[in-house]
Amino acid sequence: MPLLKRLSEIIEHDRGRLLDLYKHLHAHPELSGQEEKTAWVVAQELSRQGIEVTTRVGGHGVVGVVRNGQGPVVMVRGDMDALPIEEATGLPYRSTVRSRNERGEEVPVMHACGHDMHTAILVGTAGLLMKLKGEWGGTLLLVAQPAEEALGGAQKMLADGLYSRFPRPDFALSLHVKPELPVGKVALSPGYIMLGAEVLDIIIHGRGGHGASPHKAKDPVVLAAQIILAIQTIISREIDPAEKAVITVGAIHGGSLPNIIPDQVTLKLTLRSSSIEVAHQLVNAITRITRGIAQAAGLSDDQMPEILAPEHFYPPLYNDPALTDRILRVFKDTLEADNVITSVPQTGSEDFSEFGMVAPPIPLVLYFIGASDPEHLERGASGEGGIHLLHTPKFAPEPEMTLKTGLLTMSNAVLELLGRSLFPLKMPQNRVSTG
Ligand code: ZN
Ligand code: ZN
Repeated sequence: MPLLKRLSEIIEHDRGRLLDLYKHLHAHPELSGQEEKTAWVVAQELSRQGIEVTTRVGGHGVVGVVRNGQGPVVMVRGDMDALPIEEATGLPYRSTVRSRNERGEEVPVMHACGHDMHTAILVGTAGLLMKLKGEWGGTLLLVAQPAEEALGGAQKMLADGLYSRFPRPDFALSLHVKPELPVGKVALSPGYIMLGAEVLDIIIHGRGGHGASPHKAKDPVVLAAQIILAIQTIISREIDPAEKAVITVGAIHGGSLPNIIPDQVTLKLTLRSSSIEVAHQLVNAITRITRGIAQAAGLSDDQMPEILAPEHFYPPLYNDPALTDRILRVFKDTLEADNVITSVPQTGSEDFSEFGMVAPPIPLVLYFIGASDPEHLERGASGEGGIHLLHTPKFAPEPEMTLKTGLLTMSNAVLELLGRSLFPLKMPQNRVSTG
């Protein structure tokens, strides 16, 4: 039987079970860093397929390895964590889970970023490739990653020896559901596709005093005001207009009473950048401008503002152009050509970028799969009968076709890299009702 036909048959055969798995994961979401039960389910699913599994890699990370003779090592990554959002989809498999966050507060939990779908596709792709083991050569590295939304799960898996305890990948692939795209479509483009994200604290020192005697003090509140406005000119006057960058001061902490000039003010910033170069440029310019303003106020060298990066830097996500080209060709063969969109608007940040930013770097591709009923899409975002975006309480991917597109594209991409391209496989265009 031709490989092509076998792949379709396996997807057909596995689909019901994987849909049940997806719905189970959806109904049992876990917050970043708490993915214990999800990890257990993934480990069980992979073991059941005869895959060598290691758990607790960098927290609740799960790694599956399939050694299948000579050939490259291809990593497929899916993320597992959910968000502290109260689900309002009304679906029969909706989440009613509540859990405690890092601060011990009780919060609702929901898979509002589609990581449940990513996990189901990871498990499903593993199953497909196990059944087609005679058709490819090399090593498949399956990575179920915890804590993507927060806490730096990718970094923790790497720090726990992902690339030393397990085969080091030659290529790494991941996907993300995208409600702005109709089901059956994928979007993929080369180069930087997601912004880098960084959190900074600026501690502005001054000299406190009586509010009625400002001439005897160095007022850090005034310095804070000057700094907040001055650093916005980095975006408008220093960054190349072809690049993207954001500086947001989201919090100011300083002072207690109207008539006391405080000693210090802390600013909390989030930065976004479209390339590593822009990320460095932002931090360098912020450092230069804050120092300059402090110096102009007459503060001494030991009173200069401190720039602290308390959280991990998420680098912008870079799709390797050569690998993207290869995967694009496969997708155009796999789906109808007009189902493959090659311009991806930059949105959000993703720590999948971390897996490639090692020495020497590993070429990565992350692509997007459509998740919305085209009819809902026509009605727009978040309106009556329309679609709901990621990280919102009514976000609900159309499960069956989203799953199918994910399985088909990911397994084809892996087969391409592990030595066996498939002949064009056309997606059935029949609509599937939302469950
Ligand atoms: Zn998210
Ligand atoms: Zn996500």
